[in-house]
Amino acid sequence: MSGLVVIGASYAGIEAALTARDAGYAEPVTVVADETSLPYQRPPLSKEFLLDQVSAERLILRDEAVFASKRIELLLGRRVVAIDRHAARVALADGAVLDFDRLVIATGSRARRIAVRGAELDGVCYLRSVGDAADLKARLGRASEIVIVGGGFIGLEVASSAAKLGKRVTVIEPASRLLERAVSPVVSCFLLDIHTRAGVAVKLSTSVSAMVGDGGRVVAVELDGGVRLGTDLVVVGIGGIPNHELAAAAGLGCANGIVVDQNGRTARESIYAAGDCTTHFNQFAEDWIRLESVQHAQDQGRTVGLAIVESHEPYNSVPRFWSDQHDLKLQIVGHGARRDRIVIRGSIEAGRFSVFNYRQGRLVGVDSINNPGDQMVARRLIAAGISPAPSQAEDSSCDLRSLLK
Ligand code: FAD
Repeated sequence: MSGLVVIGASYAGIEAALTARDAGYAEPVTVVADETSLPYQRPPLSKEFLLDQVSAERLILRDEAVFASKRIELLLGRRVVAIDRHAARVALADGAVLDFDRLVIATGSRARRIAVRGAELDGVCYLRSVGDAADLKARLGRASEIVIVGGGFIGLEVASSAAKLGKRVTVIEPASRLLERAVSPVVSCFLLDIHTRAGVAVKLSTSVSAMVGDGGRVVAVELDGGVRLGTDLVVVGIGGIPNHELAAAAGLGCANGIVVDQNGRTARESIYAAGDCTTHFNQFAEDWIRLESVQHAQDQGRTVGLAIVESHEPYNSVPRFWSDQHDLKLQIVGHGARRDRIVIRGSIEAGRFSVFNYRQGRLVGVDSINNPGDQMVARRLIAAGISPAPSQAEDSSCDLRSLLK
C-alpha cells in the first residue's frame, strides 16, 4: 500500500498531512514519528510547562480522533532509518518498510551538544522534547544554583522560568550581546537589563571550557580563564542542528538543512520537506536560510500539503517569531539581520516599543517588546513591500496602517 508518507509528527509534518487530506488527497496517509506522544506544542516547554502552569496533556496539538476522522494513520514511537528514493520506500528501525508515492520529510531539528570536557556528566541538560522538559522540571525543583550556557531564546526563556521559581541563575554567552543573530542591539540591551533586574547574572563575551564533576554529577562550570562557577544544574541552549541526515544519505541536496524550492520540493519530484529541517531561498531575507519557528514549520507544511495535490501556493510568508521572558513578550517579524539603520517607535523606558530595521532604505524587520499592534502592521507592510519613511516609523502619532490603503 503506498500513498503519502510523512516522517515527523510535529508542526510541519501534521500540517502537511492535514492540508493534503483537506485539499482532496485521497490515497492513504501515514505519519511516522519516533516520539511516543501525540503531536504537541514545543514553545511552552521552556515557559509555562517548567512553571507548572500547563500539563503535558494540555500541550497536545490534535487528538487521535482528528487523525482518525481524516484517515491519517499515526505510527508513534517508530523511527525511520533510511529512505530509498529509487525504490520509493522508507525503512523503519523495527524492520518495517513503507512504500510511498509522495514523501514529506519533516524531521525538525535537535539541540546542539556542547563539546567540552565533562559534557556527559549527570546534570548537564538540553531542552527539545516534552521528555527533556519533564526531566528538567524535576531537576529544577531540586536545584538552587543554575548555570545556563547560551544567551539565545531557549537559554533566556529557561533563565526566566528558573528565576521565577526562585533559583539563582547565571547565563553564560560567548557573544558580546544577547540574541545577537536574532534582534537589534537595542533589544539585546533591553533584555540584558530585564534579566539583570530579575536577578539573573549574565556574563557576556564569556565561554565555557569544561564541566566539572564530582561522583559523576556536575558541580561546577569552568569558564575560559579558569574561573569556576559552582552549580547544581547546567542547561545548554547553544542552538539547533537540522535533522537532515536521512535526506543526505538518500542523495537529496542538503546545506544546513534539506534544500527545497518555493513549493517545499526537494530535487526529487515526489519528495518534499518542511519545517526546521529545511533550507530555502527566502525573499524577505534575500538569502538561503533555515528557520526554526512554529510559523515557518506550519506555513511551509501547508505549502507542501497543497503542492502534493498540485495546488501550488509558493511559500512566501513573512518570517515571524515570539519569545516570552519574565513578563514581556518579544515578537520579531521579517529578517533584520543585515540592517544598516534602525529607528525606535514607542518608549524603551515604558517597556513598550518596536525597533524598525532598514536595509538600503527598505523596511526588512521589526522587533517589538510588548507591542503586538506594531507587529500586525509591520507584517502587512513587509509582506506588501511598503516601507514607511524612518521619520514616520519613529513618530508614534503616525498611523502606519494608513500606508496600507
Ligand atoms: P520538530 O518540532 O522538531 O519535530 C520533528 C519531529 O520529527 C520530532 O518529533 C522528531 O523526533 C521527529 N523525527 C526526527 N527524525 C525522525 C525519524 N528518523 N523518524 C521518525 N521521526 C523523526 N518557536 C516559536 O516560533 N516560538 C517559540 O516561542 C518557540 N519556543 C520554543 C521552545 C522550545 C523549548 C523549543 C524546543 C522550540 C521552540 N520553538 C519556538 C521552535 C519550534 O518549536 C520549532 O521551530 C518547531 O517545533 C519546528 O517544527 P517541525 O515540525 O519542523 O520539527
